[in-house]
Amino acid sequence: MTVVKVVLPVPVNKSFHYSLPKDLENNEIVHRRVKVPFGNRVLIGYALSIVEEHEIDEKIKLKNIIEILDSSSILTEEIVNMAQWLSETYLCSIGEAFATIVPVSLKIPKRLTNPKTKKIKIENPDFQITKYQQKAFEEITACIKTNKNENFLLHGVTSSGKTEVYLRSIQCAIDNNKSAIFLLPEISLTPQFINILNTRFGSVVALWHSGVTTIKKYKIFHSIQTGEIKIVVGARSAAFLPFTNLGLIIIDEEHENTYKQNNKPSYDAKEIALWRGKYNNAVTVFGSATPSLETYKKCLDNDLKLLELPERVDSKPLPIIEMISLKDVKTKVSVFSKKMFNAIKKALARREQIIIFLNRRGFSPSIMCQKCDTVIHCPDCSIAMVYHKNPEHLKCHYCGKEIHFPTKCPKCNSKEFNIFGVGTQRIEEDLKKLFPHTKIFRLDGDTAKSKDIYAKVYEGIKNEEYSILLGTQMVAKGFDFPRVSLVCVVDADTSLYLPDFRSSERTFQLLTQVAGRCGRSKITGKVLVQTKYPDNYALLFAQEYNYKKFYEYEMKFRKDLRYPPFCNIAKLTIRNKDEKKALDFAQTISDFLDNQISATKCNIDLLGPSQSYISKLNGTYRWQIILKGTRKELKTLLEQVSTIKTPSETFINMELDPSDLL
Ligand SMILES: [Zn+2]
Ligand SMILES: [Zn+2]
Repeated sequence: MTVVKVVLPVPVNKSFHYSLPKDLENNEIVHRRVKVPFGNRVLIGYALSIVEEHEIDEKIKLKNIIEILDSSSILTEEIVNMAQWLSETYLCSIGEAFATIVPVSLKIPKRLTNPKTKKIKIENPDFQITKYQQKAFEEITACIKTNKNENFLLHGVTSSGKTEVYLRSIQCAIDNNKSAIFLLPEISLTPQFINILNTRFGSVVALWHSGVTTIKKYKIFHSIQTGEIKIVVGARSAAFLPFTNLGLIIIDEEHENTYKQNNKPSYDAKEIALWRGKYNNAVTVFGSATPSLETYKKCLDNDLKLLELPERVDSKPLPIIEMISLKDVKTKVSVFSKKMFNAIKKALARREQIIIFLNRRGFSPSIMCQKCDTVIHCPDCSIAMVYHKNPEHLKCHYCGKEIHFPTKCPKCNSKEFNIFGVGTQRIEEDLKKLFPHTKIFRLDGDTAKSKDIYAKVYEGIKNEEYSILLGTQMVAKGFDFPRVSLVCVVDADTSLYLPDFRSSERTFQLLTQVAGRCGRSKITGKVLVQTKYPDNYALLFAQEYNYKKFYEYEMKFRKDLRYPPFCNIAKLTIRNKDEKKALDFAQTISDFLDNQISATKCNIDLLGPSQSYISKLNGTYRWQIILKGTRKELKTLLEQVSTIKTPSETFINMELDPSDLL
């Protein structure tokens, strides 16, 4: 009898034995996905090895493997090692780790035809790069050519030509018969990017993100293994793709929190990249104009090598950032100060383009009773409902609930309401009134649902069909439009005072990034920022483009209050539809943690339980506990917590190094 060791995507950190039935005995099975019975379910797992005869316990009746899914091996040695490391590093079982790297959902197409390799004419760029780009390129490629594992941070101001350094480095990897993974924070940046990559590298490029079908994903897996695909551009999960001759991993805009997975296992694609770089003697390059504090600290600690691009290409100046203090503003035109309004008017007269940026979070229009100031909240969430016009209704942006505009105040029965706060819809309307013949493209959570929206934005702005691009965070990232001369930040304060230790860092990053969207060609750029707090250090250092000063200032605060990068953080969220039960269990967990911490005398800070930032969501009450310590200590503690029996209808979610504390 042949017995096979199988791991399954269940939260139990062990492998299982199954016997191989006679009719499957002639098939190769090791490193393939298999279908097996588990309890009263059928699961897809991963066949790791054949169990040696002396390890088989004859007395135990084993269940049969139902089906072998893959005809060829889908797990590489690296994947097996990586899964082990993943399960040791993050909170997940070995089976869950495998499922993260090689999704069980990969669907084998009926016929797997090998596409004929097309002859592609590769357009080699012949333009000059700056001396800084040249130096970065030389350092990176020297390591690629000599199979030296080295990790770089490419710290370049916006429009300093980081992309060209990436592309030439990829070219070097390909020329040296290696492959490359290129990670991007948002798929939004792909339309213009894929064009560039296709002209430069032809059909060896594939795209990998959540929108790619499971069949297509299987094909990509297959083509990576056959060597037809040499470059993958994708979201964070592309970091796992099974290249066997990996030469280069690039993580662009490394400060973005999308590289961190929020659900289990909460891995960080940057850490995956570093691990794989080491395993493969490959090079990793993190790039950003505003590196995360964690990454920059690694440079100062000599764990990453710093490459700087301090100048924009063609020595174009960085746009001037001007603060407009809303404290002094008496007259406003709609949400715009006189100054901002005039600047928009002038730019339009010069037939230039404008980006108007509104930070969405906590800044949507809500309605308030004129008499008693009651704000209409979502009945299921502790969040003000957002006012929508056309058709007129209120909507909860957290749970999606929609209600009619209220006929009277629930508290005082008054029939008069005020709309306060400004959303993108409202700004769009005002702009239409102020500049009636101007074409405006609004890009926000509502309009971004359409699939090819980014391509539309890209084409529409590039071809000058639109004069104004108005939107939330999405407009701050990556776009490269030559005719944009003015960026208006309507309210810089919305992200500044969120109860999260990263709020200053996020504000600094956002402002720098959005400012970088203008003045990218011959037209000089200007950035206007409306704020009630023009003296805030995050705003001031962003205004000066002084990353180093911001870093020093912010690091001092992080050190004093013990926040990352000076410690790791664990966030536990306890949820129940019953408010008291949620709090009771949060208290139980907190007491348990307190005892453990005193007993082991480890240096862990325990905060809470306290109400989550959104204390009620979808009718469920939420409490959170924050722990500060080393990753190892925290992981041990959380593993102990997971052995505590959770009462029925109570849920606990544990996250190591969450991207925020909200
Ligand atoms: Zn009222
Ligand atoms: Zn809601």
